[in-house]
Amino acid sequence: MPSNAEAPPPPTPLRVPVADSHTHLDMQSGTVEEGLAKAASVGVTTVVQVGCDLKGSRWAAQTALDHEAVHATVALHPNEAPRIVHGDPDGWSRQGARQPGGDGALDEALAEIDRLAALSHVKGVGETGLDYFRTGPEGKAAQERSFRAHIEIAKRHGKALVIHDRDAHADVLRVLKEEGAPERTVFHCYSGDAAMAEICARAGYYMSFAGNMTFKNAQPLRDALAVAPLELVLVETDAPFLTPAPYRGRPNAPYLIPVTVRAMAAVRGLDEDALATAISANTARAFDF
Ligand SMILES: [Zn+2]
Ligand SMILES: [Zn+2]
Repeated sequence: MPSNAEAPPPPTPLRVPVADSHTHLDMQSGTVEEGLAKAASVGVTTVVQVGCDLKGSRWAAQTALDHEAVHATVALHPNEAPRIVHGDPDGWSRQGARQPGGDGALDEALAEIDRLAALSHVKGVGETGLDYFRTGPEGKAAQERSFRAHIEIAKRHGKALVIHDRDAHADVLRVLKEEGAPERTVFHCYSGDAAMAEICARAGYYMSFAGNMTFKNAQPLRDALAVAPLELVLVETDAPFLTPAPYRGRPNAPYLIPVTVRAMAAVRGLDEDALATAISANTARAFDF
């Protein structure tokens, strides 16, 4: 393994524990127990495990049942919905071609998400939303249909809605408005600018910042963080993706949350304990832990 792919060293522990509001333990190396222990050792005592397809959503629900420190969300990822409808000859999962299943297959998958969303240890529905980066125009209709269905499921079960919004800000905001957003809505890996943060603030949407807010070219994200109401700010890893600087390119995991919390505290001009206290309360409120 090249040295730049080694796991970054554990950061100095946080004094005030926080939750990683969005992670994918099933895509990280090592066991769940190891990942949770490493995270807890630096003050990341809770994680939200996010499902992206049926298998991952079932796994998230079971892992939350097995571990006090894990809460689950369940969904079909915005890039998963078109794959179910149209099939996936060379998609990112690389698990081979899937037969196109049409709208009926999507409905069946959504019914299973609905069943999982009813479980008491499942705290949210997501990640859902729109992704115009990985999915082309031919997948838009399936994606939007799936997004609307997830909003309805979240509202009916009184769960948080976890939004994945990639290059689709205007349409995500439009669909939320048309459907009526659930009481608790979280923009995971917040990627809008300061103007969009004002819109989210007015709507009461939570904004969860990931390691990419530390990147050199991410000034618009830092500008958004600077104007977001403190009570709507969350932190996440989206691990194994988006490892914060200076570890960009190396594997991410929940134990690296303190790196991002410190970068966020600097942007807000807050000491890290004050920010961690706010984030901790916000995450518990957003997901109803
Ligand atoms: Zn996402
Ligand atoms: Zn994610």
